[in-house]
Amino acid sequence: MQMKYLYLLGYPLGHSISPALQNAALRARDIRATRYMKSPTPPEKLSEMVKVLRGENCLGANVTVPHKQTILPHLDELTELAREIGAVNTILKQDGKLIGDNTDAYGFLQALRVRRINPQGACVSILGAGGAAAAAAYALAQAGVDEIILLNRTLARGIALADRLNKKFPQLALAINDWDALAQSQLIINATSVGMSPRVDESPAPKNFSFPKHAIVFDLVYNPPATKFLRDAKQNGARVIGGLEMLIYQGARAFELWTGARAPIRVMRNAATAALQELLKSDAPR
Ligand code: NAP
Repeated sequence: MQMKYLYLLGYPLGHSISPALQNAALRARDIRATRYMKSPTPPEKLSEMVKVLRGENCLGANVTVPHKQTILPHLDELTELAREIGAVNTILKQDGKLIGDNTDAYGFLQALRVRRINPQGACVSILGAGGAAAAAAYALAQAGVDEIILLNRTLARGIALADRLNKKFPQLALAINDWDALAQSQLIINATSVGMSPRVDESPAPKNFSFPKHAIVFDLVYNPPATKFLRDAKQNGARVIGGLEMLIYQGARAFELWTGARAPIRVMRNAATAALQELLKSDAPR
């Protein structure tokens, strides 16, 4: 039987735990001769890698930083969701075509749903305006939040995301870089890469920001599980959510799209947790 592959495209990929959770799911569902593997792809090698994806033994792929937006022109089609978010994290193969999709929005919302958090009517601040921020903002707008405040280092990127959201959700109140509104938000999300291992003592929040006690604070970063952003929020009494659950659910959705099999969530969660523990051990100062 010819081996089939699912690839993870990104750069660098040393710390990704997606292979652990996807390969555990493939084994649990007895999907044989199929492997999910990292394919570290620097930007100058992206076109070459797209040719590999077009090969017969490729079943699909995940896409991560820095290719979630730059991959778009290489694909044959985009799902409506990926087009609206403007970022692709999952590639499907249909009749030899490469179809770009996005499962981050689903993963993000599902991480709230499993905690029985309904964001409808909330005022939300999102730090960041990249692919993950766009997926979170889109999911929240769909879920009926009242207002989204986009806070991003690069103003132009925040404006571009706000413009896209405004076209799709004209009733949604939007603000850009209104840092004073952060303390009034019910849901505060870090969708930047600030605080990720190894720079675990950094936070994207303003210096000495006092997280409101009433807020739910969600960091999409999953390594470390307790980022400085979350540690500071927790210290102020806020409810905190790390990025691992979102990672599991965006992966579960991708698995179902590639294989047609139901995702074994518990198996994926156990594999992801174990892989993260290993990673933390290897990252720990000796
Ligand atoms: P991206 O498209 O490259 O966007 C990165 C964002 O981080 C941009 O808004 C960027 O601001 C901001 N940023 C980077 N360095 C910064 C700094 N030093 N100070 C302030 N802002 C900074 O990446 P992405 O795909 O959106 O991913 C963002 C984060 O979400 C990553 O940590 C990723 O691991 C995480 N994520 C987690 C999941 C999950 O399942 N848990 C899924 C997707 C992403 P500028 O626009 O100014 O550059």
